[in-house]
Amino acid sequence: MAQIIDGKARAKELRKSLKERVASFAEQNGRAPGLGVILVGADPASAVYVRNKERACEKTGIRSFHHELPQDATQQQVEDLIDQLNGDPDVHGILLQLPLPAQLDAQPLIFRIRPDKDADGFHPVNAGRLSVGQPTFVPCTPLGCIDLLRWSGVTLQGADAVVVGRSNIVGKPVAQLLLAEGATVTICHSKTRDLAEKVGTADVLIAAVGRPEMIRGDWIRPGAAVIDVGINRLEDGSIVGDVEFETASARAGYITPVPGGVGPMTVAKLLENTLEGAIRFEQQKLQA
Ligand code: NDP
Repeated sequence: MAQIIDGKARAKELRKSLKERVASFAEQNGRAPGLGVILVGADPASAVYVRNKERACEKTGIRSFHHELPQDATQQQVEDLIDQLNGDPDVHGILLQLPLPAQLDAQPLIFRIRPDKDADGFHPVNAGRLSVGQPTFVPCTPLGCIDLLRWSGVTLQGADAVVVGRSNIVGKPVAQLLLAEGATVTICHSKTRDLAEKVGTADVLIAAVGRPEMIRGDWIRPGAAVIDVGINRLEDGSIVGDVEFETASARAGYITPVPGGVGPMTVAKLLENTLEGAIRFEQQKLQA
């Protein structure tokens, strides 16, 4: 039976140490780190995510600056708000909550966020830095996945890792981080042939697809570490991951539950990114 990787417990531990680091930053610099949050439109799931992130900021001592734009906001309106936050010295990190309403083009907006305030790590400059091993901001969910693996004592160096999903937000950056840890990485996606066979080779499996329980428990290599990023809401309102939990946990060595696995880590890593961005910002000011 797999050991359950308790993301909630790990995130709590991280938030506790962050709270102390935030307090000492505020004492040294005369102000707390600040996160500018942009919510466009009325997507209920996004509103919940934003509220959770802002509440977590508050509890840790990070200031959050909430900005809301209407469902019919124009590209120009969002650009203007990003420009305003780019220039605000109290804002060390900017979060543009995705997805955006259909009339908006997300990519140029992500590119408009200053790379040194890109708390989500989605800007191509930061993606590029990650790929050459010089990270500044790294996407939060992938950071959370690696943290959970390390915290659980899973060996990454030399491990065969399989990532299912190749999004810019999860799949690609988590593959880069695994590579940097010395794992041999295979990235699978919707065009991959014989997914079950590839998954079966994984010492470390990261599932980031967005399809309820599509990864069957009997595909899992016995003893593997399984990180399930998927969040899928079923018709009855329950939430499941991308991995068939019951059967997978009978074979795996380690597994994250959904909910209570990667989700809380994403928020904790956002807070960590904001603090680290603020530290870098103050250091640059000293050097200037
Ligand atoms: P995307 O939809 O951007 O990417 C999904 C990926 O899965 C794509 O690369 C796609 O392949 C691949 N895929 C789709 N169908 C299959 C299939 N049948 N076989 C193999 N691969 C397939 O999703 P995200 O990366 O943004 O998110 C993935 C999941 O993680 C979602 O459930 C999301 O809700 C969750 N999530 C959870 C977070 C957390 O904090 N826990 C944070 C972010 C996301 P292709 O590229 O070929 O289309």
